[in-house]
Amino acid sequence: SGTMNLTEPSAGSDLAAVSTKAVKQEDGTYKITGQKIFITFGEHDMAENIIHLVLARTPDAPAGSRGISLFIVPKFLVNEDGSLGERNPAYCISLEHKMGIHGSPTATMSFEEATGYLVKEENKGLACMFTMMNSARLNVGNEGFAAAERAYQGAREYARERVQSPLIGSKDKTSVTIDKHPDVRRMLLTMKAKTEAARAISYFAARQQDFFAKGETEEVRAQADALIQLLTPIVKAYSTDIGKEVADDGIQVHGGMGFIEESGAPQWLRDVRITSIYEGTNGIQCNDLIGRKVAMNGGAYLDILLPMIKEDIAALKAKGGVFEEMATEIATGVGYVEDATKWLVESFKTDPKQAATGSVHYLRLMGNVCGGWLLSKSALVAQGKLDAGEGDPTFMKAKINTARFFIEQILPASGALTQMFTQGFAAVLECEDDWL
Ligand SMILES: Cc1cc2nc3c(=O)[nH]c(=O)nc-3n(C[C@H](O)[C@H](O)[C@H](O)COP(=O)(O)OP(=O)(O)OC[C@H]3O[C@@H](n4cnc5c(N)ncnc54)[C@H](O)[C@@H]3O)c2cc1C
Repeated sequence: SGTMNLTEPSAGSDLAAVSTKAVKQEDGTYKITGQKIFITFGEHDMAENIIHLVLARTPDAPAGSRGISLFIVPKFLVNEDGSLGERNPAYCISLEHKMGIHGSPTATMSFEEATGYLVKEENKGLACMFTMMNSARLNVGNEGFAAAERAYQGAREYARERVQSPLIGSKDKTSVTIDKHPDVRRMLLTMKAKTEAARAISYFAARQQDFFAKGETEEVRAQADALIQLLTPIVKAYSTDIGKEVADDGIQVHGGMGFIEESGAPQWLRDVRITSIYEGTNGIQCNDLIGRKVAMNGGAYLDILLPMIKEDIAALKAKGGVFEEMATEIATGVGYVEDATKWLVESFKTDPKQAATGSVHYLRLMGNVCGGWLLSKSALVAQGKLDAGEGDPTFMKAKINTARFFIEQILPASGALTQMFTQGFAAVLECEDDWL
């Protein structure tokens, strides 16, 4: 199996602070010395060898992120004939006791002059690692909505069986299952709509990866690349934040049972909790979105995405009825994205701290608008199938209803998110240290 060894006690979000040493030997290999923490599957006995990818610094490397190199450090050295050789001094010195993901060992690693093999060139380590990290970020996004789906299914099953109280406003005083109560139904639909929105954005990004890999023209590949760049922090942070929110709602749907381990609901929340932290915290994803992905290119990637959304708004409008309502709300959301982006690009030039204060709101706005767009798009397809008498009608009607719920209950937050992003920084930036 393989690992990613980036984090050190003093180098977490700030990988420029990596201090593990790599000293070149006469045979071209390197001796790696240092400590890495929180390494997923850093040690286990389920594979015959573990290949560690380790970030380290050569003695005369430039300071900061430009002086980091990447090394392959196997647990067991491999002989010429492919058989396993000597034990490399790359040891797990302890395992963490965590709040969740107990199936994943998290190791503190000690490299004690372990033999390492340079990947590519010296000082290009961070760029190499980012090839892996960008795909890992998309995968952690998938982990977010996958956990949300599990929490949703558990809550829905429970709500369909738990009987409590007659329905509000009903003459019939017989108690009903809790999924009939409007507030519980709203929670279940919130869980379902957010999960489907996050999944749709992730699938849209995956489709762009296919275009990037197999697109027939340079233009198609470049456009796909731009969209992947823009969407990676959104997939990672939006989906994992939603994973937490949905798992939390899942506990609420269970009532007191949600606090009891036997229901399974606490584990879903504990397990998903890490996803907004590892692979770059969601705060770091928000910084990446507002900085590298939007402000620094003047919003150029959005000039690719927003016209795609506008094209679909026209199709929704043309269908009329509930789809026209969706079109109106998405168009309003797109307007807010345009306003927020304009402010971001301008304010970033003079004081990036302002945008950094509410970057989480900008990412949520982008996620909501993309989610509302893609859910409405799938609702339109579902309506087409219903009209043609194709597929499972319950599934198609549920698709349309979920999109409608998202548009009615989640997308209207766009205005407030924009206001918090563009106007909500004063109390943060003027706050003295001892006022916290
Ligand atoms: C279970 C688990 C598994 C892990 N697996 C691996 C692994 O396999 N390999 C590996 O290398 N690492 C792994 N990690 C480490 C993980 O990637 C880091 O914990 C994470 O990147 C955050 O670093 P940190 O813990 O040092 O937090 P810090 O960097 O100290 O961050 C603390 C807080 O400050 C915020 N912050 C920091 N800098 C900024 C900034 N510039 N702007 C705004 N906010 C900022 C963060 O968003 C966060 O909220 C794992 C961690 C855990 C808990």
